[in-house]
Amino acid sequence: MEKNQEDLGERLERFVKEQASVFGEVISYVPAKLAVTTVQPSEPVAAKATPAAVVSSLTGLEERLAVHKNEPWYNAPSLEVLESQIHDCQKCRLGPLRKKFVFGVGNPNAKLMIIGEAPGADEDEQGIPFVGRAGQLLTKMLKAIEFEREDVYIANILKSRPPNNRDPKPDEVETCEPYLWKQISLIKPKIILCLGRIAGTNLLKTNESLGKMRGQVFDLFGVNVVVTYHPAALLRNPDWKHGAWEDLKKVRRMYDELEA
Ligand code: SF4
Repeated sequence: MEKNQEDLGERLERFVKEQASVFGEVISYVPAKLAVTTVQPSEPVAAKATPAAVVSSLTGLEERLAVHKNEPWYNAPSLEVLESQIHDCQKCRLGPLRKKFVFGVGNPNAKLMIIGEAPGADEDEQGIPFVGRAGQLLTKMLKAIEFEREDVYIANILKSRPPNNRDPKPDEVETCEPYLWKQISLIKPKIILCLGRIAGTNLLKTNESLGKMRGQVFDLFGVNVVVTYHPAALLRNPDWKHGAWEDLKKVRRMYDELEA
C-alpha cells in the first residue's frame, strides 16, 4: 500500500517533468508577464477588491488581529515566540485530543506560504505539517517548480488534528485562525498557495467549489492567494495532476514576477 502510494508520488513528479516537455516549457523559461485575474471572495475576510498585482501590504490584517490584543500572543515579535506562547493551546475541543501541536515550518521570511487545512496522523505524531504521504508529494510538487521546503513556509489553518481526519468545524476554525493570521503578519508572504477546497473555503470565507476557486487569484490581506488540489487528493485522483501542474506553474510565474 505504502509503495503504491509512493509510486503515485513518483508518477506525479514524472508527470510534471513530462508536461514541461510537452508544453515546450521549462519553469525558468516561463514568460515574466502574467495576466492576473483578481476575484473577490464572496464573503471577504478583510480584503477589498483591489487589483492583486499592485497590493503589497497586509491590508486589514492588523485590524483583524487587533480583536485579540488582550491575548498574550498578540505582540509576539517572532514565530518562535508565538509558538512558545500558543503551543499549549486548549481553546477548542481538539486540544485535548492531539498528540502534538503542529505550528508550522519553513523560512520565516518566505515570500511563498503554503496553507493546508489541518494536521493528519503523521503530522500529529511528529508535530510538523505535511510530513506524511501527502507531505512527501507536496515536497515533490514544490521541487517541480524549483522550490525546496526550506524556501517556503508551510502551515495549516488548524494547529491540532481533528479526529479521524474529519473536516474542521466552523467554531474550530474561528478559534484557531487568528494564530494563522498572526503567522501571516510575521512572515509577510507575497503569495499563498492554498491546498484543497476545505483550506480554500475557510481561508477565503467563500462557498465556492474548488473548481471555481482554481484559476483565480484571490486577494487576502493584500496577499495573492492561489488555490489548488490538496496533495492527498492528487494521490487519490492522479488524473487531476494536469490541473495541479497548471496551478503550480502559475505560482512560479507569480513568484518570478516578484523577483523581476
Ligand atoms: S485547534 Fe487551534 S484553537 Fe483548537 S486547541 Fe488546537 S491550537 Fe487551540
